[in-house]
Amino acid sequence: MSREQDILFAFIDRNRQVWTAQDLVELDKLVGWGDLENLEPQHIRYVWSVLPFSGYQLLFSGQGMYPVDKHVIGSALRGGNYYFALKDSGHSFWAPVDDQLLLHCEVERTSSHCDRQIALDRVVALALSRRSHLLWIASDAGIYSLGEAVEAQPKPIHGRDGKTVSQMARTLALRADDTPWAVIGTSLYRRDADGAWVSVLTEWPNAKDFIPMAMTFSSRDDLWIGGIRAKNGLMHLVLDGNRISRIEQIGADRVGSELIFSLLWDKRHRLWVGTENGLAVYNGLEWIRMTRDDGLLSSNINQQGLSEDEDGSIWVATSRGVSHLLHPERLFERQTLDPVFIRVALGDHLLPEKAVPFSRDPLMVTLGTLNTALANTTYFRYRLEGVDQNWITTTTGEIRYNFVPPGHSRLVVQALNDNRNLISPPITLEIRMQRPWWTTWPLIMLYTMSVVALPYAFTHLRFRYLLKRQHRLEALVNERTIEMRAAQHALEQQARQDGLTRLMNRRTAEASVSRLLERLSRLDVRSSTRFATLALLDVDHFKSINDTFGHVIGDEILAGIGARLLRAKYQEEIIGRYGGEEFLIVIQGDFVAARARIATLLGTLSDVPFETKIGTLSVGCSAGIARMSPEEAWSDALERADQALYKAKIAGRGRIVVSERDLDDEGYPD
Ligand code: GH3
Ligand code: MG
Ligand code: MG
Repeated sequence: MSREQDILFAFIDRNRQVWTAQDLVELDKLVGWGDLENLEPQHIRYVWSVLPFSGYQLLFSGQGMYPVDKHVIGSALRGGNYYFALKDSGHSFWAPVDDQLLLHCEVERTSSHCDRQIALDRVVALALSRRSHLLWIASDAGIYSLGEAVEAQPKPIHGRDGKTVSQMARTLALRADDTPWAVIGTSLYRRDADGAWVSVLTEWPNAKDFIPMAMTFSSRDDLWIGGIRAKNGLMHLVLDGNRISRIEQIGADRVGSELIFSLLWDKRHRLWVGTENGLAVYNGLEWIRMTRDDGLLSSNINQQGLSEDEDGSIWVATSRGVSHLLHPERLFERQTLDPVFIRVALGDHLLPEKAVPFSRDPLMVTLGTLNTALANTTYFRYRLEGVDQNWITTTTGEIRYNFVPPGHSRLVVQALNDNRNLISPPITLEIRMQRPWWTTWPLIMLYTMSVVALPYAFTHLRFRYLLKRQHRLEALVNERTIEMRAAQHALEQQARQDGLTRLMNRRTAEASVSRLLERLSRLDVRSSTRFATLALLDVDHFKSINDTFGHVIGDEILAGIGARLLRAKYQEEIIGRYGGEEFLIVIQGDFVAARARIATLLGTLSDVPFETKIGTLSVGCSAGIARMSPEEAWSDALERADQALYKAKIAGRGRIVVSERDLDDEGYPD
């Protein structure tokens, strides 16, 4: 084969494929190099078949018969429309020409000589019986036999009834036992031992419109018949003697087409099937197909277009020229398909990366296969898990997804080759795309919170705020209440107390005395505790203290007197400031004891000097005392005490004087 472009460089890969580059952008594979040689003669319009001899071949075409030497086509040996030929012996062969004649010729590389010429219309098939030396001829006019003798003429065949079978013959083949079988009309016939032709099969199962075009016996003595207009174009007839024990119909899924034009059983026990879609080969185990993509010149294979060379290679005549399969056995070599990711891009990012950021860019994948020998016929199927329900097929190896879902995606890819019935193990592309930030867990939780938790939290917080405020108000009220109570207490205290001496003031003292007397009045009349003693106490020469040391020092002395009296005072005793520097003292109970008590109190004032700012000062006190009883108005007792005080002053101060009447009144119990 030839290429007209300039080739920059070429290399041969380990699959014996040649790669060439015409420019620096892409590589071209010279398909089938080493396994296949193609002859595409420009000056010959129709090439029908090839007849191999040892070392060279004859090419039969619409223009004539041409020698082929090492894939070079020589000049025409003979002109005419040569369709196909059948080897006789040595260098001789039978060949129909121009749909009118059957020639017997001998060829010597560059020259040819024909010694017999028989007039016959449109011969479609020939078979030579080695034992009987008869040539069997299938033609439009029927089946003929021709003897070896130079003067012999073709004899039409006859049926069991002795009548000539003159229907149009379609195809013909010799069984291993040398008996010819043929399709006449659309029925299968065989020649019986007695020379009569008998019908073997008239109805094709499940294929009433079947028109046989080619037939061949296998070395295992079963019969293969191919044809057109049937759903399954290839019939496999298993024979049991002369009987058909089984017919297997082989469909397009195996042979690649429903239209079969030629069949060949080769010496290596392989069945070659020429179809409208290329070539199919069966080695008894598996079917392999070969098409234009595998390097055939054309996929349309002629009737009688298949022939086996003496070296085992196969010549395939197609509508465009001849393909020569140099190593047919390689078709069955174990092949593996290894799909690869040539390029993976997410938008402008080239993958794979560990994790790609969230993106709505399209995913674009280019697939390839490491098996360059099968690259042309290999296609791919892929599935993005979680997105595609079913496999998607790509013949170009290009995959595009307009966008990939975020998260972990797996693109699973398999390479397939129907011609070789191959399917690769899956390869996967892991794509880890980060989720968009608005679908991350923290944010989802935030949504939930804002919908559910926030109103709750708001209510909760507001409730707490109100509760706290209430507590604060309550505390404030309590505080104020305590303050008010304290203030009230202080006011009450102030109202009852004398500010300077801290003793009861006069009004309080008088009220206390009244209460005491009322209490005493409820006691038994004979009780000694039913009586009390009232004393009026006055500081001696107090005016002179004021005059000498100042009012402030006077106040200091008065405060000191108050402090000493309070310290000495018993619970039940009443001591109050009666006015100025005069004090009222009321003591319940026995008069003599009370008088002694008053003396003691007087002593606490007179006996120890007072500490003042200007130093210590001693003061003296005088007191007048009178008995009190509930039966007497206490103002009378006060009057008598005052009189007694007066007497004490006159008597020289610093003493206690008992009211005269109380002294005289012996009737008072002591
Ligand atoms: P005596 O009673 O011994 O006859 O002499 P006296 O100097 O104490 O005379 P009198 O009782 O009449 O005088 C009382 C004086 O006490 C008159 C007044 O100036 C003084 N005085 C009264 N109340 C207060 C007071 O609250 N503070 C001071 N500093 N002096 C007072
Ligand atoms: Mg006085
Ligand atoms: Mg006085």
